[in-house]
Amino acid sequence: MTGVIRWDSDKECKLSKIDPSEDGGLTEESAKIKLAELSAELTELQELMYAAGANSVLTVFQGMDTGGKDGVIRDVMKALNPAGCSVTSFKVPSALEVQHDFLWRIHAAAPQKGRFGVFNRSHYEDVLVVRVHDIVPKAVCKKRYQHINNFEDLLVDSGVIILKFFLYISKDEQKTRLLKREEEPNKSWKLSVADWKERELWDTYMKTYEDVISNTSTKDAPWLIVPANHKWYRDYIVSKAIVEAIKPYKGAWKKKLVAQGDIMKRELEEAHVHEGGNGKKSDPNGKEAKKAGKANQEELDQKSVD
Ligand code: AMP
Ligand code: MG
Repeated sequence: MTGVIRWDSDKECKLSKIDPSEDGGLTEESAKIKLAELSAELTELQELMYAAGANSVLTVFQGMDTGGKDGVIRDVMKALNPAGCSVTSFKVPSALEVQHDFLWRIHAAAPQKGRFGVFNRSHYEDVLVVRVHDIVPKAVCKKRYQHINNFEDLLVDSGVIILKFFLYISKDEQKTRLLKREEEPNKSWKLSVADWKERELWDTYMKTYEDVISNTSTKDAPWLIVPANHKWYRDYIVSKAIVEAIKPYKGAWKKKLVAQGDIMKRELEEAHVHEGGNGKKSDPNGKEAKKAGKANQEELDQKSVD
């Protein structure tokens, strides 16, 4: 896939090899046209997945402040029917959450069958921010990699399609975005001193991201590194990755729906018989059954007159 780097489990991640300004040779206009096509496909796929109820999707979004997590959720996920979708934003763990293992709150938010789950930050904060700030010892974080891999393996075995996105922006782009927020009154709610403080730890964050990606990208739960300096390219790449990951399941979902439909039609036929109809297949709207019901009623009415 152009632009997005699907990280192989056996390779060491080196972010310096990736250009966060990459645009895949696209223009903003052409990327937006492609996104619209992908969005239509995503809408259709989500409906099928919901109806089939065999799988679910979990998309995890990680990135530095201003990296575009909120933006991509807004721009790409608007293709989804909200009724089949849940977005969970993970903040500093609450007093109750810290009393549990780090995956407790994450597992509770995992999508049920047929649903689309979106994580804005995730269990990866438990091997990123806590390590950068030395809140949790390195050895404990290393062990968490294994817990994360086992946990995601369990989800995959339960029918969850997992995609983990690292929205990769440059340090310069972050500065531009932070300063721009200060100029826009509607963005004031996003202003935070902490963002500037975290920025000072940029290099440590990048190194930690590399370590995390190298240790937790697996065949069935891969990390995808998204060049995210261009918002329109980021949106296109994320949408494309999701559609490509889900599409192979389309045939199986359709098959399940046809089989389910056959069972339901047989049940309906039987139900029509009990209602007094003749149970014919050629009576999809129950007209014959209704007619038969009416005749029965007329017969009863006649008897009561007699
Ligand atoms: P935001 O996404 O900008 O609303 O910020 C959420 C904050 O919560 C970020 O600073 C995260 O680093 C922090 N956070 C999320 N999960 C954890 C965690 N497990 N441990 C510590 N901090 C976390
Ligand atoms: Mg923030």
